[in-house]
Amino acid sequence: MKRTIIELMRTNVAQMQGYKSARHEYQGSAQVFLDANENPFDWPYNRYPDPHHFRLKRDLWKTIGWEMGKITLGNGSDELIDLLIRAFCVPGKDSIRVLNPSYGMYEVSAALNEISIVPTDLNEDFELEPDLSFLNNCLPSEKIFFVTSPNNPSGNAFHPALLEKIVKQYDGIVVVDEAYIDFSSRDSMYHLIDTYDNLVVLRTFSKAFASAGIRVGIALSSPLITNVLHKIKPPYNLSTLVMDEAIQVLQKYDRIKTQIHLLSADRDQLALDLQTLKNVEKVFPSDANFLLVRVKNAQSMYDYLRKNGIIVRNRNGQFHCDECLRFTVGTPVENKRLMEVLRNMETAENSN
Ligand SMILES: *Cc1c(COP(=O)(O)O)cnc(C)c1O
Repeated sequence: MKRTIIELMRTNVAQMQGYKSARHEYQGSAQVFLDANENPFDWPYNRYPDPHHFRLKRDLWKTIGWEMGKITLGNGSDELIDLLIRAFCVPGKDSIRVLNPSYGMYEVSAALNEISIVPTDLNEDFELEPDLSFLNNCLPSEKIFFVTSPNNPSGNAFHPALLEKIVKQYDGIVVVDEAYIDFSSRDSMYHLIDTYDNLVVLRTFSKAFASAGIRVGIALSSPLITNVLHKIKPPYNLSTLVMDEAIQVLQKYDRIKTQIHLLSADRDQLALDLQTLKNVEKVFPSDANFLLVRVKNAQSMYDYLRKNGIIVRNRNGQFHCDECLRFTVGTPVENKRLMEVLRNMETAENSN
């Protein structure tokens, strides 16, 4: 028998009362607001922001179709990752499961909260074992499994049927981090939230939505989890400026979609171009807006690119990422420049 959401939750979190701000207690429209100790004169942002994020949630629903009751918004996904850990994991006692290799923020948040890590090692192609036998060896201390799909740094997305099997069988919360799903041909897991109350889907404004600077992350989940995240989040975690800007971005959703198509096509072209280089040993298949590339010598390629004004990510040292660099797909001009510099590097090496 799997534990219920309430059984998984920290007891103090389940029992506590959230902060009730002035704006929580009164939500209608009035003419005179004398409840929040604000400066009443006419400044652009003299009022506290809406702690429920109503207008932005409404526009996410209108634009993308996510039900408002399933949405929690955070100061980046990073805040939501931290809130999920704090809602379910008892410091010094509980643990989270993460893919190895994967995104580093889960471990940072876990460390800060004194939560230990249980890794699920991926194979050399960054895939899960199809029989998911690791699920038979989970610890009672495990509360959350962070599954990143498409994964970072590898770029591959897992098969939705495999992900559903994990959600169904794992005795804990399964957070499917879909930061890069817009670049993938795979479907989001969002439609399974009504079926599995332990499923959380993470999305972000930082990648495809071209808004990393405003810090908006999205958790999609069943009402039990939505409610607890709202209870424990800082009441005003998104500022009015940020929410206004996010609403503006959603109004340009068509342009975002065009850019996603362009970036996905350019990723595939860049993968082909990189494979023509002698210094490149392998370009891993990607469902994201970046490519993990195994090269002859990661450090020397990194240094050469940096000297030529191009910064990439050196992933050498991460599990199964020996001599791997991670290239974000840039504009067509930037990708062309990258290829030019890499070809120059080979010409220079040959003439030595
Ligand atoms: C970039 C990224 C995020 C985004 O985090 P934000 O805090 O929303 O910017 C989340 N998950 C993964 C796996 C990422 O690579």
